[in-house]
Amino acid sequence: MKEKNIIYLDNAATTYMRKQTMLAMEPYFTTQYGNPSSAHEFGMEADRVMNYGRQTLADILNAESEEIYFTSGGTESDNWALYGCAYANKQKGRHIITSVLEHPAVLSTCKWLEQLGFEITYLGVNTDGVISLEELEHAIRRDTILISVMTANNEIGTIQPIEEIGRIAKKHGILFHTDAVQAFCHIPIDVKRAHIDLLSVSSHKFGGPKGMGFLYIRKGVEIIPFMHGGHQEKGMRAGTGNVPGVVGMTKAAEYAALHMKECMKRETMLRSYLFRRIINEIPFVKLNGSWEHRLPGNLNLCFAYVDGGTLLEMLDMKGICVSTGSACAAGEAGPSGVLKAIGLSDELAYSAIRMTLSSENTREDMDRTADVLKETVWELRCKSAAFMQKIGRKI
Ligand code: PLP
Repeated sequence: MKEKNIIYLDNAATTYMRKQTMLAMEPYFTTQYGNPSSAHEFGMEADRVMNYGRQTLADILNAESEEIYFTSGGTESDNWALYGCAYANKQKGRHIITSVLEHPAVLSTCKWLEQLGFEITYLGVNTDGVISLEELEHAIRRDTILISVMTANNEIGTIQPIEEIGRIAKKHGILFHTDAVQAFCHIPIDVKRAHIDLLSVSSHKFGGPKGMGFLYIRKGVEIIPFMHGGHQEKGMRAGTGNVPGVVGMTKAAEYAALHMKECMKRETMLRSYLFRRIINEIPFVKLNGSWEHRLPGNLNLCFAYVDGGTLLEMLDMKGICVSTGSACAAGEAGPSGVLKAIGLSDELAYSAIRMTLSSENTREDMDRTADVLKETVWELRCKSAAFMQKIGRKI
C-alpha cells in the first residue's frame, strides 16, 4: 500500500492509488482498449464507461452528467475556466476577481490574462486565510464577468465560504468558478446549493491517476473550447478520451465519496492529536490558517528559529515525507505567497512546513512524527544563534 517505514504526510501533493483502482483501469489498457469515438461495439463500450464516470462524478457534486468535461487535471481545468470564460464574455466586460491565495494554475492564468488586456482584482485574506465577503462585494464592477475563488487552499487548508460567494455572484449575474482540487471528495460540495458555475477537479488528489481531472461547467455558461480538433467532450475539449484515466478517477471518487464522512472524522482526529502533541512539547510553534475552517488532513506550522527546507530534508532522512509549501510552488524563489498573504514575516514563512494526512495514517505515525519533530527541531535550533540568545544560552 505504501513504502515500508515511510510516513507519508504529503497528501495535498498527491495521494496513493488503491489496488482496486488500478485493477479497474487495467482492462482499458489491455483487453478493452477501444476508442470511445469508434462506431463499433468495442468502442461503444469505452464510451459507456466514460459516461458512467460522468454520471458518477456529477452525482457527487449534485450536477448533471452532461456538465462534466474530462481534462488532464487541475491545471488544465483552471486554465480553461478562466481563459474560456474571459474570452467568451469579453464583450460584456474585462474584469475578473480572484484571491491572493489561489494556486499558481489560477494566478499565472490571471497574469497572462492581464497581458491580454483583462483587469484582475486580487482579494486579500485575513490572518486565518479567509476572504472578506464585504471586500468581494466592493470589488464588483459593472464590467466584472467572473469571480474565481478556491474552495480550499493547498498550503494552509483554509476553506472559503463558497456558498456565500456563490450567492453574491448570482445576485450580480457574475460567473463563479471555484478551484476544488483540494476539496473534491474530501469535503461535501453541492454545486447547486453554492451556485457554482465552474469547478475544477484533479484526480490524483483523491486516489485517482495523475494527468486526469475534469471541469464542471454548468449548463448555459458561456465558455469557449479548450482544445480544437475532434468532436470529443461535445467539441469543447478535443482529443481521444483517456478511458483508463476516467475509469480510475471514477473508481477513486466512488470510494472516496462513500467513505468521506468517516475519513473526515479520522483525519480530523489524527491531525488534532498530532497538533496537540506538537504544541504541548515544542515551544515557539505557530499554526497557519484557520483551525475552524480547515481541510481535515491539513496541518501547516511554523517552527520559529528553524529553516523549513532544512527541517523537511532532515525529516525526509528519517523517513517522514512533508513539504514546505505546495509541490507546484517548489523551486520558486522567495517565501510562500500564501503565508505572506496571511501576514507572516519572511523569516516565519521560511520556518513553515505542511503536513497533509490521509485516513491511511495511524496514531503510531503521529507519535513518531511528533517524536522526530521534537528532536529534529531542537537539534536545528541549537545551531541558531537567535534561538540560543532567546533562551539565554551560548551556542
Ligand atoms: N489547484 C490546486 C488547489 C492544487 O492544489 C493543484 C495541485 O496541487 C492544482 C490546482 C493543479 O492540479 P494538477 O496537479 O492536477 O494539475
